[in-house]
Amino acid sequence: MSESYTLRSKEDNMEKEEHVPGGTKMAKEEKQETSIRMLSLCAKEAENLDIILACDGAASVGQVGHQVAVELTNAYKIARMCCITAVGAESKVHVDIALRARKLIVINGCTNRCASKVLERLNIPYAYEIVIAREGVEKVSTLDFDMADVERIAKKIAREALGVS
Ligand code: SF4
Repeated sequence: MSESYTLRSKEDNMEKEEHVPGGTKMAKEEKQETSIRMLSLCAKEAENLDIILACDGAASVGQVGHQVAVELTNAYKIARMCCITAVGAESKVHVDIALRARKLIVINGCTNRCASKVLERLNIPYAYEIVIAREGVEKVSTLDFDMADVERIAKKIAREALGVS
């Protein structure tokens, strides 16, 4: 479903002038290649995917939720985060993805449940919902978070929503 490719920046292999006694010579600068993992195309494969929608709130709990979604996306080919903001903006493509998804997993930072409410307003059913603030993480006005919380909650969602341990 997913694939990798190698990302090279514009500056890679750029020829640079090197000043040497008596003139200049062109030097080719080698840079290290970085591999990135491509995700499944959710617009094409929604029916085969458990789509994760995280509120990405600008507070500790929102950031934990976002990172949980990232970890699950990276760990399981069957699951993939998608853009809840685009669903909220009623982007036709994204609403369609949400409607076609094999399963929707919703991650809210706090009890405002913004991601869930986006779906409820559009009458889009979801299979699983979690509120990070109810999982032992305090809502604090910071973007910093503890990876131990992320790992613990990601494992819980994997077990309860994805059926993996
Ligand atoms: S659910 Fe809470 S943390 Fe998430 S966007 Fe809404 S107010 Fe922010």
